[in-house]
Amino acid sequence: MITIALPNKGRLSEKALGLFERAGLRAEFTSERVLVAALGNEFRAIFVRAADVPEFVADGAADAGVTGADLIAERGRQVETLLDLGFGRCRLAVAVPEGCGIGALEQVRAGSRVATTFPRIASSFFAQAGIPVEIAQVSGAAEIAPHLGVADVIVDLVSTGSTLRVNGLREVATVLESTARLIASREAWSDPARRTSLEELVAALESVLRADGKRYLMANVPRDRLDEVKRVLPGISGPTIIEVSDAESWVAAHAVVDEDRVYQTIAGLKRLGAEGILVTRIERLMP
Ligand code: AMP
Repeated sequence: MITIALPNKGRLSEKALGLFERAGLRAEFTSERVLVAALGNEFRAIFVRAADVPEFVADGAADAGVTGADLIAERGRQVETLLDLGFGRCRLAVAVPEGCGIGALEQVRAGSRVATTFPRIASSFFAQAGIPVEIAQVSGAAEIAPHLGVADVIVDLVSTGSTLRVNGLREVATVLESTARLIASREAWSDPARRTSLEELVAALESVLRADGKRYLMANVPRDRLDEVKRVLPGISGPTIIEVSDAESWVAAHAVVDEDRVYQTIAGLKRLGAEGILVTRIERLMP
């Protein structure tokens, strides 16, 4: 049985559970113990804080886990990153109060106080930039620290930038870009039996991620316009062409299409005389 540490709440929790479910690993909770759930026959989930996932994995309490790249970097524990899961996209940024006269990182004065929930990453970032700063570790809401006179600068997570704007702060540098990752302990990854299961998990999750943003398009098209159809419907390695029974002049063309090109593709096929156009979601896609 492989144990996977998943975020118990917060921004990454629902998306992680949703992704596992789409990959065929639905969390089955036993009512009394909501901290543990079965994920199919081979895996079980334990639910912990996103920030603690790297620790649980590195310590071997879990074989694998899902959490943000930012939190993995902040913990600084040695783990194997198996897959970028794409969700939870944000960046860790340096921000300063509007109107403080600082427009770029180099203008941050030596000796500035930096409020952050990421003390480890922030101190190594400023050390590398050659700016000696004092780190003020906070456990949340770093953006109010400058208003309280607690800090001159913050290092905080940003996705749209609206929280910074509302708080009169301006971004001056990006420290790192983050998305959720699937990680494994080095021990589990180097054990052949567990590695096989983890590789199967990676393949299952990857196939779901690859299907995101894609649609399967089917249409009956005039046989004599097939060359043009292939240009409109290139698919991954050309459309699949299938005979339509009892129809001399028609064939069916099927192909995977980018979601944002579905409308143009339908219009292009219509111009070629296509009929019976059908577009469906794809659950999984393996090349
Ligand atoms: P939680 O504190 O449990 O809600 O999880 C926070 C994690 O979600 C962060 O460490 C990031 O990996 C990710 N995340 C994605 N977007 C944001 C955002 N705008 N603010 C904070 N965390 C974000």
